[in-house]
Amino acid sequence: MALPHSKLELRPLGNTGLKLSSVGFGASPLGNVFGAVSEEEANASVRQAFHLGINFFDTSPYYGGTLSEKVLGKALKALGVPRNEYVVSTKCGRYVEGFDFSADRVTRSIDESLARLQLDYVDILQCHDIEFGNLDQIVNETLPALQKLKDAGKIRFIGITGLPLGIFTYVLDRVPPGTVDVILSYCHYSINDSTLEDLLPYLKSKGVGVISASPLAMGLLTESGPPAWHPASPELKSACQAAAAYCKAKGKNISKLAMQYSLSNKDISSVLVGMNSVRQVEENVAAALELENAGKDNEALAEVEAILKPVKNQTWPSGNQ
Ligand code: NAD
Repeated sequence: MALPHSKLELRPLGNTGLKLSSVGFGASPLGNVFGAVSEEEANASVRQAFHLGINFFDTSPYYGGTLSEKVLGKALKALGVPRNEYVVSTKCGRYVEGFDFSADRVTRSIDESLARLQLDYVDILQCHDIEFGNLDQIVNETLPALQKLKDAGKIRFIGITGLPLGIFTYVLDRVPPGTVDVILSYCHYSINDSTLEDLLPYLKSKGVGVISASPLAMGLLTESGPPAWHPASPELKSACQAAAAYCKAKGKNISKLAMQYSLSNKDISSVLVGMNSVRQVEENVAAALELENAGKDNEALAEVEAILKPVKNQTWPSGNQ
């Protein structure tokens, strides 16, 4: 694919001093979460991503039962570039065996993750899907344990992730400023659901960096559709399918439109998209570069938004709270 010769934009991440590429590499697909991916394709995808200016890679011990961390670590090592040229985030507290946000478990977790990633430190360690834990435990036990890991130099910054947006205000209202550096929200800043937007001024006032994941709504906004495990209602799935079919009939691509929609809000530091092929990497970087050079396709976007209007901001339950 011919790509324009401009560079992917770097955006500051809250008060961290880090600058993340506007498109981030979500490595859950490297854990075979969306179907099998060969190690060759995984390596080539990471290499091409880095080559095209993506400097941010996100994983978790949960993705593919630790497979994603191992594959990503190997691929990053194979780049053979200085460690400070890329930013790695991983997570703790969610495992294929279940959830455990205890200080003891997350303290062991980082050592296991670093070994799998073949790294001395990660840039960001995030408590993974905290709505499944006890939020007061996150505030009183997990975050203080992560602070110790920060002091020990194993992690540079601390984050929290999850689906319901109320978890972020709950935690951030109960910890001293600077305790949480970053939040990772998912499926709340895409064409079908943009509810994260209302929270952005609050997050900015707290000096917290914002990562928005799943711009394609975990496959809803793709021509091939979501995986079988996708939690959306049948109504939401069929509306997204109709929007994808509409785009295809018009010679447009729903995923490109969705990437550009998410990328256009610059208060979001990085849009984390899951990628499992060189082709997807190239398409998503091209979407970002096209957005920078030519702006959004407002006409097609308005048509897709009209199709999705009946399901706008529809989400699904997640966690205990
Ligand atoms: P996504 O919306 O990024 O969709 C990924 C799916 O779209 C995959 O099947 C991928 O192969 C496909 N895809 C990617 N580019 C495409 C293109 N150009 N055309 C067609 N299909 C394309 O969802 P995601 O992967 O779940 O989210 C992105 C990343 O964000 C994850 O990999 C993970 O790193 C992170 N994330 C974190 C959390 C959390 O912490 N709780 C939750 C969700 C996602």
